[in-house]
Amino acid sequence: MILVSACLLGLNTKYDGKANADSLMHKYSPLGKFIPVCPEQLGGLPTPREPVEIINGTGQEVLLGQCSARGERGEEVTSQFIRGAYEVLKLVEMVSITAAILKERSPSCGVNYIYDGSFAHRKIPGQGVTSALLKQYNIPIYSEEELTEEKLIELLGDDTIR
Ligand code: SF4
Repeated sequence: MILVSACLLGLNTKYDGKANADSLMHKYSPLGKFIPVCPEQLGGLPTPREPVEIINGTGQEVLLGQCSARGERGEEVTSQFIRGAYEVLKLVEMVSITAAILKERSPSCGVNYIYDGSFAHRKIPGQGVTSALLKQYNIPIYSEEELTEEKLIELLGDDTIR
């Protein structure tokens, strides 16, 4: 089974109550091998909610208690982000998860980049909080932006139908 950011599968879990539906995810979701998760919802945040960025750091540093996740108006949501990441980890341990496909640049799900905390759409290298935790547990993580169809078919296994 493959863990997928719920918004990539068309679920309206984004901060603005919308989705980030991805055509490749949509094409292969009928195989029944994707498990949708939204760590921010699992951490107890509402939808819609304020946009959040990690301030002065990355997901790894949030997990180490070295920086915080805050909404655009300054409200701290670090504990909800960490709780959501550990809820996702529970799911990984509950079912046989072999990889995760996560939304690039999200403060929870970003795989290679996140925003820099200025709320000015400036990206920096680094992972979101959930991605950083999954990486610590050696779960292979991919962003929807880097994932090719060939790679997805490889992840899905031999019984994939194009
Ligand atoms: Fe999508 Fe992840 Fe943001 Fe939830 S936390 S809306 S799954 S990018």
